[in-house]
Amino acid sequence: MEIEKQGIITTILGSGTCVPSLQRSSCSVLMQIGDARLLFDSGPGTMRRLLEAQTTIFDLDYICYSHFHPDHSAELVPLIFATKYPDQNCRRLPLTIIAGQGLTELISGLKAVYGKWIELAEGMLVFTELDNQSKDSRYFDDFTLESAPVEHNPESIAYRVTSADGSSVVYSGDTDFSENLIELAKDADLLICESAMPDSLHVKGHLTPSMAGEIAARAGVGKLVLTHFYPDCDDVDIKQECRRTYSGPLLLAEDLMEIEVGA
Ligand SMILES: [Zn+2]
Ligand SMILES: [Zn+2]
Repeated sequence: MEIEKQGIITTILGSGTCVPSLQRSSCSVLMQIGDARLLFDSGPGTMRRLLEAQTTIFDLDYICYSHFHPDHSAELVPLIFATKYPDQNCRRLPLTIIAGQGLTELISGLKAVYGKWIELAEGMLVFTELDNQSKDSRYFDDFTLESAPVEHNPESIAYRVTSADGSSVVYSGDTDFSENLIELAKDADLLICESAMPDSLHVKGHLTPSMAGEIAARAGVGKLVLTHFYPDCDDVDIKQECRRTYSGPLLLAEDLMEIEVGA
């Protein structure tokens, strides 16, 4: 008899940025909730990192995009194309693609370029647009997905995933300081938060370690994982900068790092 699995297993697939790096692949996070597999963002290199995490593209049920910058979304085209190999019908269950408003436009733009190469068998690709002006949510068998707009692009949203046993993980995507993110992450077990640049080099539309720490502290999260490190972050003590504002459990993301919350 199969024992019921609970909690959420999160794997950082890519802790990097648009900058090519052998250590840090572009942005992507995998979550496993029971039998469901959710991918958050799919920057270049995601499919290789997925294989390294013992997961194939056919195992994925959902891909949730935080926004459409290429370092977060570009592997969607090769991923759909690869789904057609060796034949059209190798995907048995639909793949649901979720993102903020603008997803439909993005897909029709991609179809204008790639046509049938990115079409799957009838019903195998489902697209869901979430609100990017206010909070939104969807309910699935194994989990609840909530979203809130964040400070980066017009389509940018952060996600909160809550499993049936109440475990919760929040993924910030890219954002500047965001009250919405604090609210979304309230009392979450885990916050995976971008921390693109060191405190001394804050870039509009992104966070620094101490800003991410302030968000985590005010939200009262159980654990904070900083990710999305530009090379400038290699020259400073990121943990120490984050400690200016946050004293709870803290990890710096590395590719293929696994974090489990819940049972
Ligand atoms: Zn971005
Ligand atoms: Zn980014």
